Amino acid sequence: MKHLFGIAQLSREQIEYLVNLGASFVELSRRSVKKAPTLRGKTIINLFFENSTRTRTSFELAGKRLSADVINISASTSATKKGESLLDTGETLAAMQPHVLVIRHAIAGTCEFLADYLPDTSIVNAGDGAHEHPTQILTDLLTLKQTWDSPQGKVITIVGDIAHSRVARSHLLAAQKLGYSVRVVAPKTLLPLAIERFGCEVYHDFDAAIPGSDVLYMLRMQTERMTSSCCFPSIREYHEAYGLNRRRLDMAGKDCVVMHPGPMNRGVEITSDVADSARSHILDQVECGVAVRMAVLTALCGGGQTEPVRRSRKREQAEAAMKAQGKLL
Ligand code: ASP
Repeated sequence: MKHLFGIAQLSREQIEYLVNLGASFVELSRRSVKKAPTLRGKTIINLFFENSTRTRTSFELAGKRLSADVINISASTSATKKGESLLDTGETLAAMQPHVLVIRHAIAGTCEFLADYLPDTSIVNAGDGAHEHPTQILTDLLTLKQTWDSPQGKVITIVGDIAHSRVARSHLLAAQKLGYSVRVVAPKTLLPLAIERFGCEVYHDFDAAIPGSDVLYMLRMQTERMTSSCCFPSIREYHEAYGLNRRRLDMAGKDCVVMHPGPMNRGVEITSDVADSARSHILDQVECGVAVRMAVLTALCGGGQTEPVRRSRKREQAEAAMKAQGKLL
């Protein structure tokens, strides 16, 4: 595997491989000395153009626990604030010869775009707009593996802002590959057009979707991606219709668990008593997030990795143009 852009690119076998490899790293993270030499000599740059607590920290910890050198850059402190283009930032970082560039960006497709210009750097998508968030789905699958050996045949009910959620989209893609079902629950204003093409069941009534669910997966409203103010009437009404509270949890089967990718908005999509209940796997997801990112970094940096950047695509093109014009290099 050269890059990780999304669940869409992965086969069932690759997903299972990464989740199983992640399982082996959970144990390492629980030891008092949390260090393995696997990625010694490797450099990882985390480049985050959107806010993040869990994903950024877990990529950093994952790299450090595997002995890689890890650098974190956030948009607010990078030269993009001085007008540098994304491509120039990418090429600049690639010229420092990292093995892996982990990128979060508000624009869908950013990772694929940069990969075209940085041929020798592995790129990991840590969330691109409303498009994909592959490591969150691997995290969730590893979390569920601790309860069920396989997600096959299970029903994951995803509730909330489906329209703007990269997590929901990546789950819909994973479900088709791994054989679990997804129910999506949202008002029409928070559902993308033609959502049925993903093969999911669509509900507007949360109560109706609860019986038969194995997981109630709650989403935050992605207000940073909402272009109109009419996606939901008010927080209070949204909470009434789509918030997970004790009454709704009691309607679910006794083995049904609660998940949330974080960050949670308590009192909006979930009440505190549910978030902190024994049926909540939200902090298990956080723990598994580190292990899964260790697995992804290992898969990308492990055997067969090409040598890092020697020269950028832009420079090669400029040199080819000069050669074509008969100019000396
Ligand atoms: N952390 C997840 C993401 O980055 C979910 C969220 O932000 O609501 O997509």
